[in-house]
Amino acid sequence: MKTYRGKSVMQGIAVGRMHLYRRADYHAAVQKASDPEAERTRFFAAMEKAKGELARLYDEALNAMGKEQAQIFEIHRMLLEDEYYLGTIMGKLSEGYQAAYAIDSAGKQFAAMLADMEDEYMRGRAADIRDITQRVLRALLELPEEGIEAEEPMVLVADDLTPSETLKLDKKKILAFVTVKGSVNSHTAILARSMGIPALVNTELILSDSLQGKTCVVDGFAGDLIVEPEEALLSGILAKKEAWEADTLALEQLKGQENRSKSGKTIQIFANIGSVEDAEAVLRSDAGGIGLFRSEFLYLGREDAPSEEEQFTAYKAVLEKMEGRKVVIRTLDIGADKRADYFQLDEEVNPALGYRGIRICLDREDIFTTQLRALYRASAYGRLAIMFPMIVSLDEVLRIRQIAESVKKGLLAEGCVPGEVELGIMIETPAAALISDRLARTVDFFSIGTNDLTQYTLAADRENRRLEKICNAHHEAVLRLIETTVKNAHEAGIWVGICGELAADETLTERFLELGVDELSVSPSAVLRLRRAVRELP
Ligand code: PEP
Ligand code: MG
Repeated sequence: MKTYRGKSVMQGIAVGRMHLYRRADYHAAVQKASDPEAERTRFFAAMEKAKGELARLYDEALNAMGKEQAQIFEIHRMLLEDEYYLGTIMGKLSEGYQAAYAIDSAGKQFAAMLADMEDEYMRGRAADIRDITQRVLRALLELPEEGIEAEEPMVLVADDLTPSETLKLDKKKILAFVTVKGSVNSHTAILARSMGIPALVNTELILSDSLQGKTCVVDGFAGDLIVEPEEALLSGILAKKEAWEADTLALEQLKGQENRSKSGKTIQIFANIGSVEDAEAVLRSDAGGIGLFRSEFLYLGREDAPSEEEQFTAYKAVLEKMEGRKVVIRTLDIGADKRADYFQLDEEVNPALGYRGIRICLDREDIFTTQLRALYRASAYGRLAIMFPMIVSLDEVLRIRQIAESVKKGLLAEGCVPGEVELGIMIETPAAALISDRLARTVDFFSIGTNDLTQYTLAADRENRRLEKICNAHHEAVLRLIETTVKNAHEAGIWVGICGELAADETLTERFLELGVDELSVSPSAVLRLRRAVRELP
């Protein structure tokens, strides 16, 4: 028996045989071309073939899994046209190298550059570059495309998985994912979450053929991969797994039930989402609505900002899907750890304390106005509430209201009549919490973002693993700011929710209920568990 530590990106336990996946890596030797012009022609033909394949994969994914999952192939197509990538290849071709070497070396150079970056999201893109490079090489060398064959349900173990590999997986045959590389933003992590199966990334494991077919346990609670578990341990794990599954099943009975404590206190339980597709999981979870739609995810992983039309379609789809349940959409909260090249944000010494969220939107009104127009247009299709992140002053709120008013007027002048929309703000800075009495008079609701409120109150970067102990949302200072906010909201007659991770913390549910918090918004998979916690309270 041997245990390897990994980083869990999804809870749960899986027991099964390991299926080692190692893609065939095509490498090209350093060789000069006898006819450089012919090499250029071969290269362009391979590029066209690769683009054709990606267009086909996009269509297949769109039909099978929806737009969000399909988008990666569109991104790959765009990456093929990346200036740096293409420029490096063309440079090698001009130096007289063969096309295969030019493609191979440019891909390695670009992937290594991305893998070295601070930004976790960008590091995750290195796998995409390796993926497209292999695709162009295969096209050039006229080699067949690879797939992952799986005979029985198994634990898929890989160095890393590319998006096109994950697309081809027969999902019914996968019990869990374990990757040696990968980050919380990696496609494996995203896929595992959407499939609801345990997954570990960044696992301290050396891939070797001897692992193939061995029995293993993936413990998504502890973050462990246990290879050839001993009998005694295995029976304990199996018992834990059964208990978890039985518990998850038992929760189903709570669907349709109220979030009411034994003494009659009630609270709304909503869900957090990051994409249109997540709305399905919200409906399955029986949440009362959506308490936080992180709209910035619509802006990430692409070359330019989504148009008004594209955003309108996304917001409308969520509102329609929720059939009259409230949907709180947060405006773009870009900056800090969420970055997109096309915003051309400067490198900052303290990004979390920097140019982010509403600060960017109030500065770049074109971006803000486009989003607000899309939101107000979509508001006719459901029950929409809009909220604004990173507020620190009353002036910001007043300016937001002015812009929102002028957007509405503009739409009315065009003959487009928006629905009733609540306007609220996130309370996620100590400044906002401390002046929440004044802010409450200018908005319809508050939503407390405890993730940022904790980092700003305790001066502890939420991304820094070494500060995990300090960045503790249970700190009395954070809890007092929450209390102040709730009290001030209610004195002004507005509702207040919590949408940070703390909302799902069952050790505080009683305190929140006593405080009179109106709504808790948590991940869809946590909704029924939280309902049970509320119902078990005195
Ligand atoms: C928060 O800060 O608590 C929050 C919900 O927003 P995010 O985690 O997206 O910053
Ligand atoms: Mg936040």
